[in-house]
Amino acid sequence: MSSHARTQNRIVAIVGRPNVGKSRLFNRLARRRISIVHDEAGITRDVISTEIEEGRYTLLDTSGLGLTGSDTPQRITAAAEQQVDFAIDTAGLILFVIDGLSGTTALDEQIARKLRRAKAKVRLVVNKADFDEARVDLAEAYRFGLGEPISVSAEHGHGEGRLREAILDALGPAPEPDGEADDAGVENAEEAAPQPYKSREKRPLRLCFLGRPNVGKSSLSNRLLASERLIVSDMPGTTRDAVELPFTFTGRNGRSYPFSLIDTAGIKAATKLAAPVEYFSRLRSLDAIQRADVVFLVLDALEGVTQQDKAIAGEAVKERKPIVVVVNKWDLVHAAFEKPEGLKGFASERDYREKYERAVFERLFFTPGAPLIFASAHSELALDRMMNAAVKLDRTLEKKLPTGRLNRLLAELTERTPPPVVGSRRFRIYYATQTGRRPFRIRIFCNREDRLPESYRRYLESGVIREFKLEGCPVYFDLVGKE
Ligand code: GDP
Repeated sequence: MSSHARTQNRIVAIVGRPNVGKSRLFNRLARRRISIVHDEAGITRDVISTEIEEGRYTLLDTSGLGLTGSDTPQRITAAAEQQVDFAIDTAGLILFVIDGLSGTTALDEQIARKLRRAKAKVRLVVNKADFDEARVDLAEAYRFGLGEPISVSAEHGHGEGRLREAILDALGPAPEPDGEADDAGVENAEEAAPQPYKSREKRPLRLCFLGRPNVGKSSLSNRLLASERLIVSDMPGTTRDAVELPFTFTGRNGRSYPFSLIDTAGIKAATKLAAPVEYFSRLRSLDAIQRADVVFLVLDALEGVTQQDKAIAGEAVKERKPIVVVVNKWDLVHAAFEKPEGLKGFASERDYREKYERAVFERLFFTPGAPLIFASAHSELALDRMMNAAVKLDRTLEKKLPTGRLNRLLAELTERTPPPVVGSRRFRIYYATQTGRRPFRIRIFCNREDRLPESYRRYLESGVIREFKLEGCPVYFDLVGKE
């Protein structure tokens, strides 16, 4: 991680040997029933996650990790070890659950040993303190050397409030976005709207990575999260199943900005969705796009803009989301031009970049104004520029389009290039006003909405985008005819 990028890990993992009530505890904290985990050969959906307390942290249940269904005691031990390793690698806080009724076992001791060496914070949770805490042997719990145990009953809710508090305490204050919080080093700060969070209601800026397999989405995500592993989660039967991972990014100017990464398991642009896994992954991607404030469309620097990239970009455009185009793996292009043979057909790195830019411009013509950033997950090139671009788009989304100026602009545009005659009469605008943001929605009262040809609509849209500097943010015209 580069020195100016810092991450606050707000991931909480539940670990413990089988049958101590981890899933029960997870469900209680999540305040919902979560159905069983969708499984298909070759793909283990083994970690369940959810957002807690309005996104203040992400809770993971690792119970399923490494288990196969036909488990011997050795395998159970191996799985428990794997779960704990995963938690140590991933979480900022680990809840180690033991069974207060049946007492501790050798496996508990083994897990505790690992946790004592871990850098992550650990809280010891003694479960099944159902009615009578006195029956729970807390002295035994203290012996683990993991601090003061918290006794709860996941089943009945006893001690729940204390546990919730202890978790928030251990995590420390959440990065509280407020109107003051500036940016991650945005260049044109004077363009910022005065209340950038108003319609996001004080929640972090949600990002998602979109792109073909292998373009480097996970690598970029991991760079941002400063974790080597990305959590896979699946809650079948629902489309709201992408994972949200909160983090803060600190720009060159030292200012932090809260983000939340929505993890997708990759999108398949193909129309044939044979396997259920593919179906779920597509739903997840769509869900992620819908929930995101800004979408990072990741392309491969060596492979150029493919047909599939185009289709994937189309998904984000359909949802009217602002897009940052990220050309990842630029380190490979750079390295190629360090060598005398370079890349065939290109004079220099700069020539390659310019041709790439043109290809994006031509093939992704339907994403006008989207920032284009040449980046590398490996060399960490331009990560801060990516984040800046996202912050800037997010701020642009907050703009108000003053009605007077909007109407004067549309009058000018229609005067300069009059709408074509359709049928026997011309399309005419009477009045326009902004009716929404995220995305920008402009209601246009006109004579006949069906007289507005697509090309003329685009002309008007790009005029509005230019005038109000909305580059990269989709603008939607909502026409009301009243001839
Ligand atoms: P995903 O399928 O889009 O999530 O792609 P991954 O993040 O799994 O990356 C696919 C492969 O590309 C892996 O072997 C990565 O190590 C590699 N990769 C990702 N980002 C970069 C990069 O910036 N530079 C280079 N050279 N390789 C990268």
